[in-house]
Formats: sequence, structure tokens, C-alpha cells
Amino acid sequence: MLITNAKLITWEEPNQILEDQAVLIQDDLIVEIGPEASLVNDYTGEERIDARGQYVMPGNICAHTHFYGAYARGMAIPGPAPKDFPEILQKLWWPLDRSLTLDDVCASAEVMILDAIKHGTTTLIDHHASPNAIDGSLDVISDVVQKSGVRAVLCYEVTDRDGVEKARAGIQENLRFLKKVDEDKKQSRKVRATFGLHASLTVSDSTLDDCVSSAPRGTGFHIHVAEHEVDQYDSLAKSGMRVVDRLHRRGILGPNTIVAHAIHVDAREVSLLAESGTWVTHQPRSNMNNGVGVSEVESMLRAGVPVCLGTDGFSHTMWEEWKTAYLLHKVWHRDPRRMNGIDVAAVAAYNNASLAGSFFPEAPLGILEPGAFADLIFVDYHPHTPLTSGNLPWHIIFGFHESMVTTTIVAGTILMKDRILLTMDEEEITARALRQAPQVWERYERQFRQ
Ligand SMILES: [Zn+2]
Repeated sequence: MLITNAKLITWEEPNQILEDQAVLIQDDLIVEIGPEASLVNDYTGEERIDARGQYVMPGNICAHTHFYGAYARGMAIPGPAPKDFPEILQKLWWPLDRSLTLDDVCASAEVMILDAIKHGTTTLIDHHASPNAIDGSLDVISDVVQKSGVRAVLCYEVTDRDGVEKARAGIQENLRFLKKVDEDKKQSRKVRATFGLHASLTVSDSTLDDCVSSAPRGTGFHIHVAEHEVDQYDSLAKSGMRVVDRLHRRGILGPNTIVAHAIHVDAREVSLLAESGTWVTHQPRSNMNNGVGVSEVESMLRAGVPVCLGTDGFSHTMWEEWKTAYLLHKVWHRDPRRMNGIDVAAVAAYNNASLAGSFFPEAPLGILEPGAFADLIFVDYHPHTPLTSGNLPWHIIFGFHESMVTTTIVAGTILMKDRILLTMDEEEITARALRQAPQVWERYERQFRQ
């Protein structure tokens, strides 16, 4: 496949914006990039896709999401509104995740992935919970991922909050799926696994030890950390240690582990995250919505912590998350110099690419260069001021919208062309989710009242 008439945003270091380019894709890789005239001459027999002068750039990557959250949209929480994050967990998320059947897990993955393809997100790192449908839940999501054609990293959130048996079932689901992905190389070309844990506050030391001792060597973990102060109070009461110290002591941290949020961490915890090479993900829209505070992203970056950007199950519109990160830190610190566009790009483009690449090491991700995975999007953006590699982050923050994404390609397969979805039937998928929603909400109400 030869993409012609393209303006490229390569996200190399340093980034390049190149005009009148063509991109040759063979199988799932970018094979050659160069001036259109010469590639068109050299590859006369290739199927052509005319980008019509649009920007062609690497697909966006979401470092932390929850597909299972799809049914929360528009759902009423009975009684007084939750007053803080612990109440949001107890009144919203826990009764909701307990309401999900495998059919609902499937429907929520479908609508979330559909949203990702439409809005140019090509790799997603999911964190799944469905305590009354644990066994096989990762297979259900994996099937949706494979049919849709996106790239994803999956895990199940182990927790003690529903009892020892369900904690064990969660561990088994992670182990089973890790093994399956490892054995099934065809499937695992676009699906990878990690080991999920809900959060320090819902896992005992013995559960943490069971996870570490049962996971294959080198497996990383994906866990919420210090999203609210309550995680610290719980950890101090349980172990006499702060959350990051506790996880470090129990062998959870490391260069394959993802820690979501890290808002209420102290300087020692930040240095432990940096020394261990642990990834941290920032989800500013979710943090604002939950009123949990703001993580010290700039300080963590200076300390050497690889901070990435996720959506926490909000829509898979990564540039909205860029914009929120850019704005939030300014108002929080009352300083318009904070979290500049370069910092946002460092987190959302470069660090997200490195994190995704660590799960798919066969070829680079998040970059347009020969040899990289052919995960790319076309963006129908017409700047009215000069767009350069230097000011691109500000064009993205102030000018780009996900509705400008017209074509989405993952691993050389076209998933959306000129806004027409080729692997998913939007009408059918949304109709199915909508049909199931009243039952999910009814079960949620019953769970809520228990
Ligand atoms: Zn989360």
C-alpha cells in the first residue's frame, strides 16, 4: 500500500513535518518514506491511497483506560451525590463493575474501541474489572480487539474487595491470559497482556505476594496508585509504609509496571518510581471529574519518572486529554508557564510511544520511520498560521480535534477510510449496547442497594 499526497508528522526526535511525501506500507510495517514523486515511480504496482494533502501521523496511544466503564455514561447514582473519591468507588464503580456480564464486557469493549478508531487512537492499555464475570473476560475483550483491528494491552484488576475467592479468580484470569498470549503468537501480534491489580487499598499483602510469586518472570503490573489520600492512609495502617514504598517492598514496581495517577505521593515515592523505572500515567480529565487533585507531572518528569497520558475510560480522544493536561496545571499552579506544549508532547507522544513499544518490541510504535509499525492516522487540518515541528504541540492543543481524523490504519490494515468504519458496524454495535443498558442499570441499582 502506498499512501500518496501526504504531509507527514513523524514524531521522530527531533520531530519533522514533511510535505509532498509518500509512505510505503508492506504487511504491518512502514517500509519506506520519501518524496512522493520518487516513490510513485518506484512502486507503480502498489495499491494507492491518496491522503489529499492531509497530515499523516502516528496513531494516538492511550496509556490507561477502562473499557468496562462504558455503561456509566448518563447513569444516575441513587441518593445524594458522592462527596469524595472513596464514595465514587463505593456508589458508582463497584456496584457497576459487579453488574457486568460477559455480554456487557463485550458490548462495552466494542463501543469504546469504536470510539478509539473514529478518533484516531490506535493502541490502548486497558485495565478491566467485572467481579461477577471474571473467568474468560480477557478473552472476550481480546476477541473484540482482534476483530476491530486495534492494538491493545489487557489485564484483569485483582482485588480483595469481593472476597478471597474472587481475588484468586482475578489472579487466575491474569495468569491464564498471560500464558495464552505468550503461546498464541498470531493473536499476540496485536494483543499483549500484563498483570492487573486494582489499587493498594483493596489488596492485602498476601494477595500482592500471590500475584508476584505466580506471575511469570519479568511480568509487569498495572495498578492505580495514590489516586486519593485514602490509598495512603490505608497503606500506612496496613503496612506502616506509604503506597509506593509498600509496592516496592512487595516487588510490584519496575520497568514493566504501570502506575496510574500517583497524585498523593511524596518526594521519596517519586524517587522510588524513578529509580525502579516504573511508568506513571496521568489522566487529568478523570482527576478533575473525581476532584482528587493533580499529580506533579513536571516534577516527576524532572526526577526521571516516565510519565504517560491516559484517559481512564473517558472517551478515547487523546487530544482532549492533551488540552486538559495543558490547561489544568496552569490553573492549579496559577501560573501560565506550567506544563507547556513541549511537556505535554513529551508525555503524550514520546513517553506513550515508549510505553506501548515496551509491550510490542518487534518494531517501533508512535513514530513514522521505515521499520516502524504502520499505525497511522490522517488528519484533515488546515492551519491558518505556519505549522512547524517546533510549534506543533500548540497547533494540536489549540487547533486539532479528533473529528478531523478521517482515516485510521493499524498494523497496515485500514480500520476507517474517509470516516467510514471498515471493521466495525457502528449502528449494530451501539444498538446492541443500548439494548443491554437498561438491564445493566437495573443490576447496578440492585448492587447499589446491597
Ligand atoms: Zn483507572
